[in-house]
Amino acid sequence: MKGMSAAKLLSESGLKTVVLEARDRVGGRTHTIRSKQVKYVDVGGSYIGPTQNRILRLAKELGIETYKVNVVEPAILHTNGKSYPLYGVFPSSWNPFTCLDLNNFWRTMDELGKEIPAHAPWDAPHAEELDKMTMEEFIKKHCWTKAAKDYATLYVNVNITSEPHEVSALWFLWYVKLCGGTIRIFSVTNGGQERKFVGGSGQITEKIMEQLKDNVKLERPVIRIDQTSDSVIVETLNHEIYKGKYVISAIPPVLTTKIHFNPPLPTKRNQLIQRIPMGSVIKCMMYYKEAFWKRMGFCGAMMIVDEEAPITVTLDDTKPDGSVPAIMG
Ligand SMILES: Cc1cc2nc3c(=O)[nH]c(=O)nc-3n(C[C@H](O)[C@H](O)[C@H](O)COP(=O)(O)OP(=O)(O)OC[C@H]3O[C@@H](n4cnc5c(N)ncnc54)[C@H](O)[C@@H]3O)c2cc1C
Repeated sequence: MKGMSAAKLLSESGLKTVVLEARDRVGGRTHTIRSKQVKYVDVGGSYIGPTQNRILRLAKELGIETYKVNVVEPAILHTNGKSYPLYGVFPSSWNPFTCLDLNNFWRTMDELGKEIPAHAPWDAPHAEELDKMTMEEFIKKHCWTKAAKDYATLYVNVNITSEPHEVSALWFLWYVKLCGGTIRIFSVTNGGQERKFVGGSGQITEKIMEQLKDNVKLERPVIRIDQTSDSVIVETLNHEIYKGKYVISAIPPVLTTKIHFNPPLPTKRNQLIQRIPMGSVIKCMMYYKEAFWKRMGFCGAMMIVDEEAPITVTLDDTKPDGSVPAIMG
Protein backbone atom coordinates (compact mmCIF):
# COMPACT_ATOMS: atom_id res chain seq x y z
CA MET A 1 0.00 0.00 0.00
CA LYS A 2 2.71 2.50 0.99
CA GLY A 3 4.78 1.78 -2.10
CA MET A 4 1.77 2.21 -4.39
CA SER A 5 0.67 5.44 -2.75
CA ALA A 6 4.24 6.83 -3.00
CA ALA A 7 4.33 5.87 -6.68
CA LYS A 8 0.99 7.59 -7.25
CA LEU A 9 2.22 10.79 -5.66
CA LEU A 10 5.50 10.78 -7.57
CA SER A 11 3.99 10.03 -10.96
CA GLU A 12 1.39 12.77 -10.40
CA SER A 13 4.32 15.13 -9.81
CA GLY A 14 5.60 14.22 -13.26
CA LEU A 15 8.38 11.84 -12.23
CA LYS A 16 8.89 8.55 -14.05
CA THR A 17 8.14 5.89 -11.48
CA VAL A 18 8.29 2.10 -11.55
CA VAL A 19 6.88 -0.17 -8.82
CA LEU A 20 8.59 -3.54 -8.42
CA GLU A 21 6.24 -5.88 -6.55
CA ALA A 22 7.34 -9.34 -5.40
CA ARG A 23 3.92 -10.99 -5.58
CA ASP A 24 1.49 -11.57 -8.41
CA ARG A 25 -0.85 -8.93 -6.99
CA VAL A 26 -0.65 -5.49 -5.44
CA GLY A 27 -1.95 -4.68 -1.95
CA GLY A 28 0.53 -6.57 0.23
CA ARG A 29 -1.04 -6.93 3.66
CA THR A 30 -4.34 -5.67 2.31
CA HIS A 31 -6.09 -8.26 0.17
CA THR A 32 -9.70 -8.37 -0.98
CA ILE A 33 -11.01 -11.68 -2.27
CA ARG A 34 -14.13 -11.76 -4.42
CA SER A 35 -16.55 -14.63 -4.88
CA LYS A 36 -20.17 -15.17 -5.85
CA GLN A 37 -21.08 -16.39 -2.37
CA VAL A 38 -19.54 -13.63 -0.26
CA LYS A 39 -19.31 -10.80 -2.86
CA TYR A 40 -16.03 -9.52 -1.41
CA VAL A 41 -14.04 -10.02 1.78
CA ASP A 42 -10.92 -8.41 3.25
CA VAL A 43 -8.55 -11.10 4.47
CA GLY A 44 -5.85 -8.58 5.39
CA GLY A 45 -5.96 -5.02 6.70
CA SER A 46 -9.50 -3.74 6.68
CA TYR A 47 -10.52 -1.44 9.55
CA ILE A 48 -9.87 2.26 9.63
CA GLY A 49 -10.82 5.03 11.96
CA PRO A 50 -10.36 8.66 12.87
CA THR A 51 -6.74 9.89 12.69
CA GLN A 52 -5.93 7.47 9.83
CA ASN A 53 -6.30 10.56 7.69
CA ARG A 54 -3.91 9.74 4.88
CA ILE A 55 -5.60 6.51 3.88
CA LEU A 56 -9.05 8.04 4.36
CA ARG A 57 -8.07 10.91 2.06
CA LEU A 58 -6.57 8.55 -0.52
CA ALA A 59 -9.66 6.35 -0.55
CA LYS A 60 -11.95 9.36 -0.92
CA GLU A 61 -9.91 10.62 -3.85
CA LEU A 62 -10.22 7.20 -5.50
CA GLY A 63 -13.99 7.21 -4.96
CA ILE A 64 -14.00 4.43 -2.35
CA GLU A 65 -16.60 4.92 0.36
CA THR A 66 -16.53 3.77 3.97
CA TYR A 67 -19.22 2.41 6.24
CA LYS A 68 -19.51 2.04 9.99
CA VAL A 69 -18.96 -1.36 11.59
CA ASN A 70 -22.11 -2.33 13.47
CA VAL A 71 -21.87 -1.86 17.23
CA VAL A 72 -25.38 -0.55 17.82
CA GLU A 73 -26.36 -3.45 20.09
CA PRO A 74 -24.25 -4.67 23.03
CA ALA A 75 -21.24 -6.94 22.49
CA ILE A 76 -20.47 -10.15 24.40
CA LEU A 77 -17.67 -10.85 26.84
CA HIS A 78 -16.88 -14.55 27.09
CA THR A 79 -14.72 -15.47 30.05
CA ASN A 80 -14.36 -18.50 32.36
CA GLY A 81 -16.81 -20.40 30.16
CA LYS A 82 -19.60 -17.83 30.59
CA SER A 83 -20.94 -15.06 28.38
CA TYR A 84 -21.94 -11.59 29.56
CA PRO A 85 -23.27 -8.55 27.69
CA LEU A 86 -20.47 -6.05 27.16
CA TYR A 87 -21.16 -2.33 26.90
CA GLY A 88 -18.25 -0.30 25.55
CA VAL A 89 -14.73 -1.45 24.85
CA PHE A 90 -13.46 -2.59 28.19
CA PRO A 91 -14.99 -5.35 30.27
CA SER A 92 -16.56 -4.29 33.49
CA SER A 93 -16.62 -6.57 36.48
CA TRP A 94 -18.76 -6.97 39.57
CA ASN A 95 -15.49 -7.31 41.45
CA PRO A 96 -14.31 -3.82 42.51
CA PHE A 97 -10.69 -4.99 42.78
CA THR A 98 -10.69 -6.10 39.13
CA CYS A 99 -12.24 -2.77 38.11
CA LEU A 100 -9.63 -0.80 40.02
CA ASP A 101 -6.85 -3.00 38.71
CA LEU A 102 -7.89 -2.59 35.07
CA ASN A 103 -8.51 1.10 35.44
CA ASN A 104 -5.06 1.53 36.96
CA PHE A 105 -3.50 -0.47 34.11
CA TRP A 106 -5.03 1.68 31.33
CA ARG A 107 -4.21 4.88 33.18
CA THR A 108 -0.60 3.81 33.77
CA MET A 109 -0.18 2.94 30.09
CA ASP A 110 -1.62 6.26 28.94
CA GLU A 111 0.37 8.28 31.49
CA LEU A 112 3.63 6.59 30.47
CA GLY A 113 2.64 7.00 26.81
CA LYS A 114 2.33 10.77 27.31
CA GLU A 115 5.97 10.88 28.43
CA ILE A 116 7.19 9.11 25.28
CA PRO A 117 8.16 11.49 22.46
CA ALA A 118 6.54 10.24 19.24
CA HIS A 119 9.65 10.80 17.12
CA ALA A 120 12.26 9.85 19.74
CA PRO A 121 10.86 7.21 22.11
CA TRP A 122 14.41 6.55 23.35
CA ASP A 123 14.34 10.02 24.95
CA ALA A 124 11.42 9.11 27.25
CA PRO A 125 12.24 9.55 30.96
CA HIS A 126 11.86 5.80 31.63
CA ALA A 127 13.02 4.65 28.20
CA GLU A 128 15.84 2.38 29.30
CA GLU A 129 13.88 0.72 32.09
CA LEU A 130 10.85 0.16 29.84
CA ASP A 131 12.86 -1.09 26.91
CA LYS A 132 14.57 -3.73 29.05
CA MET A 133 11.17 -4.98 30.14
CA THR A 134 8.80 -7.10 28.04
CA MET A 135 5.07 -6.43 28.08
CA GLU A 136 4.70 -9.66 30.04
CA GLU A 137 6.88 -8.22 32.81
CA PHE A 138 5.04 -4.91 32.57
CA ILE A 139 1.68 -6.65 33.00
CA LYS A 140 2.98 -8.66 35.97
CA LYS A 141 4.33 -5.48 37.54
CA HIS A 142 1.16 -3.42 37.17
CA CYS A 143 -1.73 -5.91 37.37
CA TRP A 144 -2.67 -7.65 40.59
CA THR A 145 -5.74 -9.66 39.66
CA LYS A 146 -5.85 -12.63 37.28
CA ALA A 147 -8.77 -11.08 35.37
CA ALA A 148 -6.78 -7.90 34.66
CA LYS A 149 -3.67 -9.91 33.67
CA ASP A 150 -5.71 -12.03 31.27
CA TYR A 151 -7.39 -9.04 29.75
CA ALA A 152 -4.11 -7.13 29.40
CA THR A 153 -2.64 -10.15 27.61
CA LEU A 154 -5.58 -10.26 25.20
CA TYR A 155 -5.14 -6.55 24.63
CA VAL A 156 -1.51 -7.04 23.54
CA ASN A 157 -2.41 -10.11 21.44
CA VAL A 158 -5.14 -8.32 19.53
CA ASN A 159 -3.42 -5.00 18.98
CA ILE A 160 -0.05 -6.22 17.77
CA THR A 161 -0.68 -9.91 16.94
CA SER A 162 2.21 -10.94 19.19
CA GLU A 163 2.64 -12.37 22.66
CA PRO A 164 3.41 -10.01 25.56
CA HIS A 165 6.78 -11.75 26.17
CA GLU A 166 7.84 -10.96 22.60
CA VAL A 167 7.73 -7.18 22.76
CA SER A 168 9.48 -4.38 24.59
CA ALA A 169 7.21 -2.43 26.93
CA LEU A 170 8.65 0.84 25.61
CA TRP A 171 7.80 -0.13 22.04
CA PHE A 172 4.25 -1.23 22.89
CA LEU A 173 3.51 1.90 24.95
CA TRP A 174 4.87 4.04 22.13
CA TYR A 175 2.76 2.16 19.58
CA VAL A 176 -0.43 2.54 21.62
CA LYS A 177 0.31 6.23 22.17
CA LEU A 178 0.74 6.77 18.41
CA CYS A 179 -2.61 5.09 17.81
CA GLY A 180 -4.34 7.61 20.09
CA GLY A 181 -4.09 5.82 23.44
CA THR A 182 -5.46 2.69 25.09
CA ILE A 183 -9.11 3.40 24.33
CA ARG A 184 -8.89 4.68 20.79
CA ILE A 185 -6.67 1.92 19.43
CA PHE A 186 -9.12 -0.70 20.66
CA SER A 187 -12.46 1.02 20.06
CA VAL A 188 -14.92 0.66 17.24
CA THR A 189 -16.85 3.92 17.69
CA ASN A 190 -14.34 6.77 17.43
CA GLY A 191 -11.51 4.25 17.28
CA GLY A 192 -9.33 2.09 15.06
CA GLN A 193 -12.13 -0.29 14.07
CA GLU A 194 -14.81 2.31 13.32
CA ARG A 195 -15.09 1.78 9.57
CA LYS A 196 -14.46 -0.46 6.60
CA PHE A 197 -14.28 0.27 2.89
CA VAL A 198 -17.37 -0.53 0.84
CA GLY A 199 -16.08 -3.07 -1.70
CA GLY A 200 -12.92 -3.86 0.28
CA SER A 201 -9.59 -2.22 1.11
CA GLY A 202 -7.86 -4.00 -1.77
CA GLN A 203 -9.51 -1.58 -4.20
CA ILE A 204 -7.14 1.19 -3.11
CA THR A 205 -4.02 -0.36 -4.61
CA GLU A 206 -5.97 -1.89 -7.48
CA LYS A 207 -7.22 1.56 -8.50
CA ILE A 208 -3.73 3.05 -8.18
CA MET A 209 -2.46 0.22 -10.37
CA GLU A 210 -4.99 1.18 -13.05
CA GLN A 211 -3.59 4.72 -12.98
CA LEU A 212 0.06 3.64 -13.08
CA LYS A 213 -0.61 1.12 -15.88
CA ASP A 214 2.52 -0.72 -17.08
CA ASN A 215 4.68 1.01 -14.50
CA VAL A 216 3.67 -1.61 -11.92
CA LYS A 217 5.71 -4.76 -12.47
CA LEU A 218 4.36 -7.80 -10.65
CA GLU A 219 6.36 -10.91 -9.70
CA ARG A 220 9.56 -8.90 -9.44
CA PRO A 221 11.09 -9.57 -5.99
CA VAL A 222 14.00 -7.15 -5.55
CA ILE A 223 17.18 -8.95 -4.52
CA ARG A 224 19.93 -6.34 -5.00
CA ILE A 225 20.26 -2.58 -4.70
CA ASP A 226 23.54 -0.96 -5.77
CA GLN A 227 23.86 2.73 -5.19
CA THR A 228 26.50 5.04 -6.61
CA SER A 229 26.73 8.80 -6.22
CA ASP A 230 24.37 9.54 -9.11
CA SER A 231 22.20 6.47 -9.67
CA VAL A 232 20.73 3.31 -8.21
CA ILE A 233 20.70 -0.10 -9.87
CA VAL A 234 18.01 -2.54 -8.78
CA GLU A 235 18.02 -6.21 -9.68
CA THR A 236 15.02 -8.53 -9.42
CA LEU A 237 14.94 -12.28 -8.85
CA ASN A 238 14.29 -12.89 -12.54
CA HIS A 239 17.51 -10.92 -13.32
CA GLU A 240 15.91 -7.78 -14.68
CA ILE A 241 17.87 -4.61 -14.08
CA TYR A 242 16.24 -1.25 -13.39
CA LYS A 243 18.19 1.99 -13.18
CA GLY A 244 16.95 5.12 -11.47
CA LYS A 245 17.94 8.14 -9.45
CA TYR A 246 16.25 7.08 -6.23
CA VAL A 247 14.69 4.03 -4.64
CA ILE A 248 11.90 4.02 -2.07
CA SER A 249 11.84 0.78 -0.12
CA ALA A 250 8.29 0.24 1.11
CA ILE A 251 8.59 -3.30 2.42
CA PRO A 252 8.37 -4.56 6.01
CA PRO A 253 11.81 -3.91 7.59
CA VAL A 254 12.61 -7.59 8.27
CA LEU A 255 12.23 -8.41 4.56
CA THR A 256 15.07 -6.04 3.69
CA THR A 257 17.37 -8.76 5.04
CA LYS A 258 16.66 -10.58 1.76
CA ILE A 259 18.14 -7.77 -0.31
CA HIS A 260 21.87 -7.33 -0.97
CA PHE A 261 22.84 -3.71 -0.57
CA ASN A 262 25.94 -2.13 -2.02
CA PRO A 263 27.24 -0.14 -0.20
CA PRO A 264 25.99 -2.19 2.77
CA LEU A 265 23.33 -0.73 5.04
CA PRO A 266 24.61 1.30 7.98
CA THR A 267 25.53 -0.97 10.89
CA LYS A 268 22.67 0.10 13.14
CA ARG A 269 20.10 -0.35 10.38
CA ASN A 270 21.56 -3.77 9.61
CA GLN A 271 21.31 -4.74 13.28
CA LEU A 272 17.77 -3.39 13.50
CA ILE A 273 16.31 -5.28 10.56
CA GLN A 274 17.53 -8.56 12.01
CA ARG A 275 15.66 -7.88 15.26
CA ILE A 276 12.28 -6.62 14.12
CA PRO A 277 10.05 -9.64 13.50
CA MET A 278 6.47 -9.29 12.31
CA GLY A 279 3.45 -10.40 14.29
CA SER A 280 1.26 -13.20 13.08
CA VAL A 281 -2.50 -13.41 12.76
CA ILE A 282 -5.21 -15.24 10.86
CA LYS A 283 -8.59 -13.72 10.12
CA CYS A 284 -11.49 -16.13 9.97
CA MET A 285 -14.93 -15.31 8.57
CA MET A 286 -18.02 -17.33 9.40
CA TYR A 287 -21.00 -16.89 7.09
CA TYR A 288 -24.57 -17.45 8.25
CA LYS A 289 -28.02 -17.53 6.65
CA GLU A 290 -29.17 -14.69 8.88
CA ALA A 291 -27.59 -12.26 11.35
CA PHE A 292 -29.09 -14.22 14.27
CA TRP A 293 -27.02 -12.24 16.77
CA LYS A 294 -29.03 -9.13 15.88
CA ARG A 295 -32.29 -11.01 16.43
CA MET A 296 -30.94 -11.93 19.87
CA GLY A 297 -30.10 -8.28 20.61
CA PHE A 298 -26.34 -8.41 20.11
CA CYS A 299 -24.12 -6.62 17.61
CA GLY A 300 -21.84 -9.56 16.77
CA ALA A 301 -18.77 -8.19 18.55
CA MET A 302 -17.26 -10.57 21.08
CA MET A 303 -14.27 -10.58 23.34
CA ILE A 304 -13.10 -14.03 24.32
CA VAL A 305 -10.71 -14.07 27.27
CA ASP A 306 -9.51 -17.66 27.23
CA GLU A 307 -5.96 -18.73 26.46
CA GLU A 308 -7.18 -21.87 24.68
CA ALA A 309 -9.70 -20.09 22.45
CA PRO A 310 -8.55 -19.87 18.82
CA ILE A 311 -10.35 -16.54 18.43
CA THR A 312 -10.04 -13.59 20.79
CA VAL A 313 -12.11 -10.88 19.16
CA THR A 314 -15.00 -10.85 16.69
CA LEU A 315 -16.91 -8.15 14.80
CA ASP A 316 -19.98 -8.17 12.61
CA ASP A 317 -18.77 -8.51 9.02
CA THR A 318 -22.17 -8.31 7.34
CA LYS A 319 -22.13 -6.13 4.23
CA PRO A 320 -23.34 -2.55 4.75
CA ASP A 321 -26.56 -3.28 2.81
CA GLY A 322 -27.36 -6.12 5.25
CA SER A 323 -26.47 -8.89 2.81
CA VAL A 324 -24.07 -11.83 3.42
CA PRO A 325 -24.41 -12.06 7.24
CA ALA A 326 -20.98 -12.82 8.69
CA ILE A 327 -18.86 -12.69 11.79
CA MET A 328 -15.14 -11.92 11.52
CA GLY A 329 -12.80 -13.44 14.10
C1 LIG B 1 -4.62 -10.05 8.66
C2 LIG B 1 -4.27 -8.59 8.83
C3 LIG B 1 -5.21 -7.71 9.32
C4 LIG B 1 -4.90 -6.37 9.45
N1 LIG B 1 -5.88 -5.52 9.87
C5 LIG B 1 -5.66 -4.19 9.85
C6 LIG B 1 -6.73 -3.29 10.05
O1 LIG B 1 -7.87 -3.71 10.23
N2 LIG B 1 -6.47 -1.96 10.05
C7 LIG B 1 -5.21 -1.48 9.79
O2 LIG B 1 -5.03 -0.26 9.78
N3 LIG B 1 -4.18 -2.31 9.57
C8 LIG B 1 -4.39 -3.65 9.56
N4 LIG B 1 -3.37 -4.50 9.26
C9 LIG B 1 -2.06 -3.93 8.97
C10 LIG B 1 -2.03 -3.33 7.57
O3 LIG B 1 -2.56 -4.25 6.64
C11 LIG B 1 -0.58 -3.02 7.21
O4 LIG B 1 -0.05 -2.14 8.19
C12 LIG B 1 -0.44 -2.34 5.88
O5 LIG B 1 -1.14 -3.01 4.86
C13 LIG B 1 1.04 -2.31 5.55
O6 LIG B 1 1.23 -1.69 4.32
P1 LIG B 1 2.71 -1.53 3.75
O7 LIG B 1 2.57 -0.90 2.41
O8 LIG B 1 3.56 -0.87 4.76
O9 LIG B 1 3.29 -3.00 3.67
P2 LIG B 1 2.76 -4.26 2.86
O10 LIG B 1 1.30 -4.20 2.67
O11 LIG B 1 3.35 -5.47 3.53
O12 LIG B 1 3.42 -4.04 1.44
C14 LIG B 1 4.73 -4.41 1.16
C15 LIG B 1 4.78 -4.91 -0.27
O13 LIG B 1 6.14 -5.16 -0.60
C16 LIG B 1 6.21 -6.38 -1.30
N5 LIG B 1 7.58 -6.89 -1.14
C17 LIG B 1 8.14 -7.45 -0.05
N6 LIG B 1 9.44 -7.76 -0.30
C18 LIG B 1 9.70 -7.35 -1.55
C19 LIG B 1 10.84 -7.39 -2.39
N7 LIG B 1 12.01 -7.88 -1.98
N8 LIG B 1 10.74 -6.90 -3.65
C20 LIG B 1 9.56 -6.38 -4.12
N9 LIG B 1 8.45 -6.32 -3.36
C21 LIG B 1 8.52 -6.80 -2.10
C22 LIG B 1 5.14 -7.23 -0.67
O14 LIG B 1 4.77 -8.30 -1.52
C23 LIG B 1 4.03 -6.21 -0.45
O15 LIG B 1 3.17 -6.11 -1.56
C24 LIG B 1 -3.62 -5.87 9.13
C25 LIG B 1 -2.66 -6.75 8.65
C26 LIG B 1 -2.98 -8.10 8.50
C27 LIG B 1 -1.92 -9.02 7.95
